[in-house]
Amino acid sequence: MQFNLAWLERWSGHYDAAMKLTEDAFSQMSPDRDPEGWSELLVIKSVCVYSLGELSLADEILGESLEVLGPAVHGKAGIEPLTVLANMCAYYNDYDKAQNKLRDAMAIADKLGRDFERAHILQTLSRAELRNGRAEAAVEAGQACLEQSLATRNAVNLPYAYEVLGAALVETGELKEARRCARMGLRAAQFSQDHRVACHLYYVLGLSYLEELRYDEARAELENGLLNAAGADYNHWTRNFYLKLSQTHEALAEHRTALNYLKAYVELQQKLVSEETERQSNDFRNRLEFRLANSKADYERELRTKTEALNLELRVANEALRDLNAQIEHNALHDALTGIGNRRMMARFFETVEATMEAGTKISAILIDLDRFKSINDQDGHSIGDLVIRTVALRLSALLQDGETLVRMGGDEFLILTADRTGLDDLTALAEEIIREVNLPMSFKGAQQKCVGASAGASVQEAGPLLEYELLRTADEAMYQAKKSGRNTYCLHSSVYRSITQDAS
Ligand code: GH3
Ligand code: MG
Repeated sequence: MQFNLAWLERWSGHYDAAMKLTEDAFSQMSPDRDPEGWSELLVIKSVCVYSLGELSLADEILGESLEVLGPAVHGKAGIEPLTVLANMCAYYNDYDKAQNKLRDAMAIADKLGRDFERAHILQTLSRAELRNGRAEAAVEAGQACLEQSLATRNAVNLPYAYEVLGAALVETGELKEARRCARMGLRAAQFSQDHRVACHLYYVLGLSYLEELRYDEARAELENGLLNAAGADYNHWTRNFYLKLSQTHEALAEHRTALNYLKAYVELQQKLVSEETERQSNDFRNRLEFRLANSKADYERELRTKTEALNLELRVANEALRDLNAQIEHNALHDALTGIGNRRMMARFFETVEATMEAGTKISAILIDLDRFKSINDQDGHSIGDLVIRTVALRLSALLQDGETLVRMGGDEFLILTADRTGLDDLTALAEEIIREVNLPMSFKGAQQKCVGASAGASVQEAGPLLEYELLRTADEAMYQAKKSGRNTYCLHSSVYRSITQDAS
């Protein structure tokens, strides 16, 4: 429906209305389902755009219309866009291109025997030839167009055929013939109520009489034309008639009337120019706004994409930083060789005790030093020595319960700290387990089985300001005692026994 209305508006010269209807029709159609309909719609749009002075845009839209057709461009559907394109080319003086397009269109129309379209192409050709200054060729095409229209009783094209032929005949000086043609055309235009064609034909009549200096007859035809143009609001034609009437009255020595017509002409011309200027500046502003909106949207889209990419990068970097911090923190508290805690871990244990445990809470420590470890390094090398240290660390950590801490104090020395196993039995059992586990033979790839002993010293102290110092000192004393009593054994510091006595009393 919108489609047909758009056609009607287009033919009636109501381009704004046609444009709006075209846009509506676009939203209801699809180029895939109906390429021919889509292409035809693009032709209407292009004619509208063209009529608003947007030549290159109109050309572009027509190109699109031909593209949408694909191979169908060589069929019936190709004729209309090719013809309209030719018409436009002629208007901006690209006659070669116009001729080419018309030849293509004519080849299709001939092949398919499309008489209606043939007449339309010939009409366009005649108009193009006249614009190109080739009046003879225009007459020839106009005559062919008229013959074609009469032969096929093509009432739609008939007024246009007379229009182009009449205009061409005036240019070649065949004035009588031009008048005959114009009169026939006027009858046809009256029948189809085409006021624009009627304006042109009255103009042809007026011009032909002016050429023969028959001013009264010229005036009569031009006045008819003026009435017709003013009635249909064809301002461009009204202006043309004002000028010609002014010239006619001048020739008739009716200077006052001539002057009035000239004034009317100047006034209307000024109005048309200012309307045109306003339309062009509106057009320019619309186009600028359109481009601005487009580039703003592009810019925002780009900004969004970039921001998203940056955010992603930032997220990845933050995650890497978090991992790195966790790694740094882990490294700060753990021994690089064995993975168990280091002295800083021990310091943290005492900080936690101080912060969370009541004074008087018992803490026990077992200090473990490997026996004659140097000899392993000397005999088997440092790397085997390292493996022994790691194996011992692994075995000791397997003995721990939740909440207990194992650290490597350095070299071949380890420390277990616990607030849970502070009683004599618990400590004795743990110390025995330690000695037994360390003593189990160790096998390493490519080396003989290794055995190592350990001396351990256990101590118990109450939480308080001197806890760390006292606990380490007494555990060390007990461990030294174990070494002195022949190694590979454990000693309990007197503090362990004292603690039991205190508990008992
Ligand atoms: P003792 O029974 O008296 O403890 O004799 P020991 O040979 O074990 O002597 P001590 O405990 O004093 O010496 C420990 C040695 O451990 C000293 C050093 O050469 C060695 N050592 C220290 N750190 C490392 C290490 O990271 N890797 C290896 N392979 N050896 C180490
Ligand atoms: Mg040692």
